[in-house]
Parts: sequence; structure tokens; C-alpha cells
Amino acid sequence: MTSPLRMLLIDDNRSDRALVLRELQREFDPLDVQEITSSGELNRAIAIGNFDAVVTDFQLRWTTGLDILELIKQHYPRCPVVMFTNTGTEEVAVEAMKLGLDDYIIKGPNRYIRVPIAVRNALERREMQQRAALLEIRLQRLLNQVKIGIFRSNAEGALIEANRAFLELLGVGSLAEANTMNWLDLRDGYSQLMHLSPPQQQEREVSLQKSDGTQFWALLTTTLNTVEAVSVVDGLLEDISDRKQAEVDLQQLNATLETRVQERTAELEAANQDLEEFAYSISHDLRAPLRAIQGFAQILLEDLSETLDANASSVLQRIVANAQHLNTLMIDLLTYSRLRRIEIDLEPIDVSSVLAEVIAQINSDMQQQQAQIQVDEPLPSVRANRLILTQVLINLLVNAVKFVAEGVQPQVRVWAEERAGAGEGSTVRLYVEDNGIGIASDRQQHIFSPFTRLHRDADYPGTGVGLAIVRKGVERMGGQVGVESQLGQGSRFWVELPGGERALR
Ligand code: ADP
Repeated sequence: MTSPLRMLLIDDNRSDRALVLRELQREFDPLDVQEITSSGELNRAIAIGNFDAVVTDFQLRWTTGLDILELIKQHYPRCPVVMFTNTGTEEVAVEAMKLGLDDYIIKGPNRYIRVPIAVRNALERREMQQRAALLEIRLQRLLNQVKIGIFRSNAEGALIEANRAFLELLGVGSLAEANTMNWLDLRDGYSQLMHLSPPQQQEREVSLQKSDGTQFWALLTTTLNTVEAVSVVDGLLEDISDRKQAEVDLQQLNATLETRVQERTAELEAANQDLEEFAYSISHDLRAPLRAIQGFAQILLEDLSETLDANASSVLQRIVANAQHLNTLMIDLLTYSRLRRIEIDLEPIDVSSVLAEVIAQINSDMQQQQAQIQVDEPLPSVRANRLILTQVLINLLVNAVKFVAEGVQPQVRVWAEERAGAGEGSTVRLYVEDNGIGIASDRQQHIFSPFTRLHRDADYPGTGVGLAIVRKGVERMGGQVGVESQLGQGSRFWVELPGGERALR
């Protein structure tokens, strides 16, 4: 149940009171009206204060409506008071309004109905004011609690209001003090916003100075607003010094990291080079004693062939074979190592002529195996190094002829394909296809690493360095290698190099 509206009705005229009361009862339910006809009753009512609104006449036997109004507003400033009179003047009305009167109604036969309306309007107004005041308090509290500085400035660049965080950011105690500081050219900010199209808003990072001279970084967001037809700038000021410092630290860290990476890379390259030089000189120096071992074993075999028993000569033969294998391995290693180190000149090379030389070089191997090689002429020229291309093709062709199942005649096909390159001109892909034993797909990537062999030496002799030489050589010439194969289905190795015409342009 709602509590009744409690009212004081102050009028000496009983019939007027009755008429007003009737109208009030029509409008408000429940209603609790105290009729006041003397100063004693009024003082008691004021002392108790149990009323929500007052309707008073102006001319009373014992006082005037103005005095009553003053008295009530003195004790209860928010209490609505409506004056209902036929004796007041315009001056009285003005005076009463100044004192906080909510409405002034001239008495008349059809006017009683206006009293409850005036009371209701006044009550609603009071409620709205209360709500606004409450909101204002909450807003103020919020503004003072947030860590972001909030301010409002006018077109002249003067601060009109600001919250506590704003003052703290600038290190000042009051708005007046902030206005004496030259912390930012607010007038300039205003004119900049004026030239923007809606929403007239700007966000920028600024370096500011506190009142004690310390610098700090802030994110400043300003918006041009209109409040009661006046242009103002509303601003947010957020301290971003920590973030800025983190950015600087990160940049420094990145810079140091980059230098450290560069240093490490240089160290690694130097270590690698040392290692390569070491491997090179070892391979190189070991070849002489190895040749001696091989030579002496050969001499023993030849000179003592009559006297040696079968076992001893088989041992000597194995020494010779192993020494030979080691020698090949060292030659391969030297080639591989040299490939990594030497300066390489690239020039347009006629692949057909290189291939013809290669085939001539390995002719005895091929004849031995009764191999057939088909070259799909014409082959385009490539941009390469002649010596390296020769090594690459020798390794590919020797393998193509070598890795064939027993009893199968090796058949090799070589052809080329010109490919349109993206932006950088064409490339040429050379294919070497065989009818050999093929390579399982999961091993295909590994065979280009040094010493990777998929077969026993007894079945297919080798050092495991040939394809590593192929890959390194092709990479050094700016190309790529690959293989397409299936176990038992033959293999198709490819080498892709820049087209030869490129160098001629
Ligand atoms: P090597 O021929 O001395 O063994 P490579 O580096 O040339 O060494 O080749 C590595 C391995 O790749 C070979 O041992 C072989 O298992 C495999 N391979 C190379 N070429 C072929 C080929 N054409 N067909 C099948 N397997 C091959």
C-alpha cells in the first residue's frame, strides 16, 4: 500500500478550504491533509515536519502567505509550496517566486481544479531535482574515483572543470593552479577540433610536464561539444608513461637482440669456416698417406703374388679396395667442402655441350652396364657455373645408371622444361629420369644430406656424398633440386636453374 500524500492546507476561509480539499482528494489517493488556521498549528506542524507539500492562501488573519513560505522554505527548502489567493498582487507573486514558491494561482470559481495540478507538478519537479542531484553526486564521485584525468575547457583555452585525477596528473592542488600552468596549448587544440568534420574528436600521445617539472607521457583525447549553446572541449588525459617506457625498453631489447644475433651468426660462421677448413685440410693431408698405403699394398700384391697364400692376398686386396673407397670418399668430401667455400661465377651455359662432355666422361661405366641414355634435344641454356654443373650432372647420371635392379638394362632420359618465372624471368628445369629401383617417398628429402645412403655398400657402392654435392652446387648457383619417385618405379631427379638468357640481357 502506498503511503498517503501528506499536505498542509493553510487558509482561514473554511469554504475555500473545503473546495480545495475536494479537488485534492480527487487527484490524490490516499491523502492526508492537515488544515491549518493558526500560527500555533503551523509551528507545531513545522516542528514535526510530517508533510510533503503545502497549499497556502496569501492573506491570512494571523500572517501572510509570504511569511509562511519563508518559514517553510527555511526549514524544508525542498518542500513544494503552492499559493492560492485572490488578494495577492503581481509584486507578491514575484517576491514569492524569488523565495522559492512553486506555483501561484489566483483564486476563482474555476481555479480550484488547478491546485492539485500545481501540487503534482511541483512534486514531480522536486523528484526530478532529487534524482538529478543524486546523479550529480554519483557522477562526481565517479569522476573523482577514475584514474583518468577528465577536464573541460572553453574556446579561450581556459579550464572550466576537472576531476581529481586530472589535478593529480599535473601535480596541482586546484583548477586555478592548473590554469596558471602552461601544460598544453588548449586554445590551439580547440581550433584544431573546429576544423575537423564530425565527430570532432582527436586522439594523440603527448609528452607533458607536471608542476614540479617532471615529464610524463599521456594519451590525450579531446572532443568538441556544445553545452547550452556554448562550445567546449571535453578531454581525457591518461598517463601512458609505463607503456611508453615498455615500448622504449622493447625497442632497445630488439636492437640488442639483433646485434647479439648478428654477433652469434658471425661467430657461428667463423666456427663453421674453421671446421670446413679443418675438414678440408684433413681430407687433403690424409690422401697422401692413404695413397701410400694403397700403393704399398698394391706392390706387395704384385711382387709377392707367387709366395702369398690365398688368405693373405685376399686381405691385401681388401686393404687396396678399402683404401680406394676412402680415397673416393675424401675426394667427394673435398669437392663438397670446396663447393661451400669457393667464389662462384655464373654465366650462360649450353647444357647440351656440358651433357655431351659428361656422357663421354662416364662412358666406360655406361658401357659396362649397357646403359642407354636418351637426351631430348634441344636443351636450353642456363645461367650456371660450368664446372659445378658438370659435377651435378655426373652425379645424377652415375646414380641413374647405378641404382638399377639386377638384370635390368639402365635406361635414362634427360630433358628440359622452360618455366616462366614470377617477375625474375624464366627458369629451366632439367630432368634426369631412370628406370631404377626408385626411392620411398619418406626418404626422398633425406638423400640430399651428406652420408645418407639407403643401400648397403655391397649392393650399391658409394660414399653418400654425391647428392649432397648436387644440392649444394645447385643452391650455390641460385637454383633448387628435387626428386619424384616411387619405390620400384624409377626416379625422376630435377634441377631448376635460372634461364641462360637472363645473363645476356
Ligand atoms: P651414393 O650414390 O654415393 O650412395 P648419393 O648421395 O649420390 O650417394 O645418393 C644417396 C642415396 O640416395 C643413395 O645411396 C641411394 O640410396 C639414393 N639414390 C640416389 N640416386 C638414386 C637413384 N637414381 N635411384 C634410386 N636411389 C637413388
